[in-house]
Amino acid sequence: MKALLFDLDWTLVDIQGFTDYGTALEDVRELVGEWADVGAPDTSWDAPARICMEALVALAGDSRWQALSDAIERHELAAVPQSTPMTGLELLIDTVSDTPVAVVTLMGPEAARLALATHEVPFTTVVGRLHDLRPKPAPDQIIEACRLLGVPPSDTTMIGDSTWDMEAANAAGAGFIGITNHRPSEFAPGTVTVADLTELSHHLASSELRHR
Ligand SMILES: [Mg+2]
Repeated sequence: MKALLFDLDWTLVDIQGFTDYGTALEDVRELVGEWADVGAPDTSWDAPARICMEALVALAGDSRWQALSDAIERHELAAVPQSTPMTGLELLIDTVSDTPVAVVTLMGPEAARLALATHEVPFTTVVGRLHDLRPKPAPDQIIEACRLLGVPPSDTTMIGDSTWDMEAANAAGAGFIGITNHRPSEFAPGTVTVADLTELSHHLASSELRHR
């Protein structure tokens, strides 16, 4: 494994817990009304957060997409100052200090960068949701992160808390490790899972030793 790709929300930092996605969803409906069901995978996010993300998937490529993304990002930016690091973040940052890393997130790029800076996460390659890239669970954001890191997806492992991360990794041909955050696994049977970033750090350190 030559590079690691991390989801942001509920993987590195808890932002969703502080984001008013209920009001964001009202803003979304005012902007775009209804949209077609995209058949996105089930995941454990709060319903308004999931519906906002489904709208971003459904309207990918639509001329209203940027306005939609900006409306949601206002609420994400407001939540960042209250956001909290996920368990084990500090140990993880130490553990991967010699590994190329990118953050691949459904959050708006400005909110994502602010969250990383707020929690002193030194990962500088960040692919947030962008108008030109179909969002996760499509593979586009992972492929873009790999292009920026200069590694093929087959040499990377995506790490995330959601089935959306898993499906994006599968679609891109990257490996995947699921973070359960101490809840029952929502991932496909056979998926490698860890409970939190502390367990992930131990897993990464021990698999690194095996490869020496
Ligand atoms: Mg997440």
